[in-house]
Order: sequence, then structure tokens, then C-alpha cells
Amino acid sequence: MQLRVTSLPGDGIGPEVISQAICVLEEVAAGFGHDLELDEKEIGGVALAKFGNPLPDSTIQACLASQAVLLGAVGSPAFDHKPRELRPEAGLLRLRQELGAFANLRPAVFYPALAACSPLREEIVKGTDILIVRELLGGLYFGQPRSIAGEPGARQAINTMSYGEPEIERIARVAFQLAQTRRRRLLSVDKSNVLECSRLWREVVTRLARDFPDVQLSHMYVDSAAMALVLKPVGFDVILTENMFGDVLSDQAGGIVGSLGLLASASIGGPVGLYEPVHGSAPDIAGQGIANPLGAILSVALMLRHTFHLLKEAECVEAGVISTLMGGFRTRDLARPGERTVSTEEMGAQITEFVRLAAIANNQAAS
Ligand code: NAD
Repeated sequence: MQLRVTSLPGDGIGPEVISQAICVLEEVAAGFGHDLELDEKEIGGVALAKFGNPLPDSTIQACLASQAVLLGAVGSPAFDHKPRELRPEAGLLRLRQELGAFANLRPAVFYPALAACSPLREEIVKGTDILIVRELLGGLYFGQPRSIAGEPGARQAINTMSYGEPEIERIARVAFQLAQTRRRRLLSVDKSNVLECSRLWREVVTRLARDFPDVQLSHMYVDSAAMALVLKPVGFDVILTENMFGDVLSDQAGGIVGSLGLLASASIGGPVGLYEPVHGSAPDIAGQGIANPLGAILSVALMLRHTFHLLKEAECVEAGVISTLMGGFRTRDLARPGERTVSTEEMGAQITEFVRLAAIANNQAAS
């Protein structure tokens, strides 16, 4: 199969973690017989420094010509004082819009080898396997009007939350379909006791449930969901929610299972999928070779599953991560006091080697 991927390493630790993710992807392609076509482009601070634009046209064109985009991270203190449109983060927000990626998937999976990384007791967090499906292009973050206006001391700030039925239906459909591939339980999170947007949300999701009789749908207010996530995270399968609630709950779910460096995400729904670790550019550790590449590598697994539908290959990468963690390999963010740590490169090399051996075993079994 042909895999056309654009890589956007971006800023800070982005290039360090993406180089390891690319090694793993190249090994998957070589080992499982796929033809990988890679194109690397600029985004964020590096693009601003080179082109004066956080998302140059050449980057957009390359992304739209590929099937999937693998992004590192954007953000650099050098641009913190700039206006919003001239900051690295503006490039990423625009890219999501350009790609029409309205469905953001954030898995939060508990790894037994990392039980000590969770702030929760092992008996509470053990078995947690949640998929959060967050609406990414609507709601409060994009609604108009938005402004801060008025005289100093009496200024007024406005943001608008707005959702249309088609917008709710398309994200809900993605969530129902994903629930069908998992434990068939879908929880829709809203605030329908207070917000009109949430009332419409609940009505549309309930109506759509008739098309998915094999999925058990339930509803919860966002405040109750936040509490239930820490009290009984194993009770969740797929969570469907709007943009802002999803932003908060997905970070919370990530915190429950451990380090930020472990978390991967997929933004799908448009013609080209966008895959990126959840963490930012981590300027405090950039260039030291100590960043955890697992979030970027698990983003490759999401890409193999959701864009290329290569389930065996996706599972192989995930198994490589589990095996590496079981083998005791830890980047600094995962290590407990006194534990030996490995570099970004060593961690990536372990998973690449696992994939190489797994592909050989797979090919031998097939012949
Ligand atoms: P961050 O995620 O970059 O870092 C938070 C903390 O986690 C830091 O201490 C960092 O060292 C650590 N960390 C993050 N990723 C790690 C990894 N892979 N391995 C080990 N440790 C890791 O968040 P921040 O410090 O709030 O933001 C830094 C910059 O990144 C800002 O410019 C921000 O706007 C940007 N940002 C970008 C994205 C993105 O590109 N999707 C997301 C969040 C923040």
C-alpha cells in the first residue's frame, strides 16, 4: 500500500520526537511491505522565522496532497510577545481548519508498567481504556462575535458558543462508529441543564442513536463527568463531547493515566488526517535529547489505524510501546527516583527494533 505522509516537526522537542516516530513508521513500511512517501515541511516558529508565516502555502499544499500529516509541536518563547496571528500556535489552528479535521480523538490508556506514574491508586486506574471524541472546529473557540471592547476599567469581553445540527450530527456519527469498534458504550457529555447548545446537542445525539442500536448511549453533565473520571475511570469507554468540554476532559483523562509525553491524538473527518502528540514544544527540555517520544510514536499507530486502516501494523507499534515499557525503558519524565533513564533516541530505537522483529515474524508466519 502507498502511504503518503507529510511530516511537520515544528518547534522545540517536535523535531526530536518526530524523528523517532518517523524511524518507527519507516520500519513499519519496510517490514510490512508498504511504499512510504515522506515530505517534510515547516510549521510554527520555524516557519515564522523562515517565511514570516506560521503556516506557509507550501506547507498547506503539501499537507493537502498527502493522506496524513504527522506533526510534532509548535510554540516558542521567542514569539510569546507577538500578536495572535503571528504566533506559532496560529499555524496549527489554521492547519486543523484547512484539513477540515472536525473530530479529535484522544485515547487515554493505562499501562500496567507505568502504574507509578498515575496520581490515582492502581486499583482505581487499572484497566482504564478511554477514547475521547471531541468536536474540534466549532463551539466557543470559533463562535462569532468575539471581542474585548470598551474603555479601560469598563471593558467587556465576548465569546460565543454556537452549534448547528449538522455539526453535532457529523461528530456524533464518528463517535458512534468508533464505539462500534470498541466496547459499544458511548457517553455524551454536555451541560444541557444550563446551555441551549447542550440541549440541542443531547437531542441530536439521542436521535442519531436510532441508527446505532448496537451502541449503548448515555448522557452526563460535564461537571459529573469530571468527577466520575477520577472516581471510576474504568467505567468509561467512548466519550463524545463539544470543543471546550473535550479540551478540559481529555487533559484530565491524560493526567489520570500518567505522563503528558505518552499521549497521542488524531484529528480526522476531513480528507487528510492530522496526527500529533498531545504535548507542546517543551522549550524547557528542547535540544537535550531527553524528551519522551512515545506520544509521537503512538500518534503513528493512530495514523496507521484511522487513515490507512492497517490494524495489524497499528497493533504492532502499540505492542512495541508496551514491550519497551515492560522492559523497564524510561525517559526522564517516566522514571521514578533512582531508575535508569534512556534518551529520546534510545527509546525510539527500542520500538523500531521491536517492529523490525515483529514484521519478520509476521512475514515468516505468512509464508
Ligand atoms: P508542554 O506540553 O510543552 O510542556 C509541559 C511540561 O511537560 C514541561 O515541563 C515539559 O518539559 C513536559 N513535557 C512535555 N512533553 C514532554 C515530552 N514529550 N517528554 C518529556 N517531558 C515533556 O506545555 P507548555 O510548557 O505549556 O507549552 C510550551 C509551548 O508549547 C508553548 O508555546 C505552547 O503554546 C505550546 N503548545 C503547543 C501544543 C501543540 O503544538 N499541539 C500543545 C500545547 C502547548
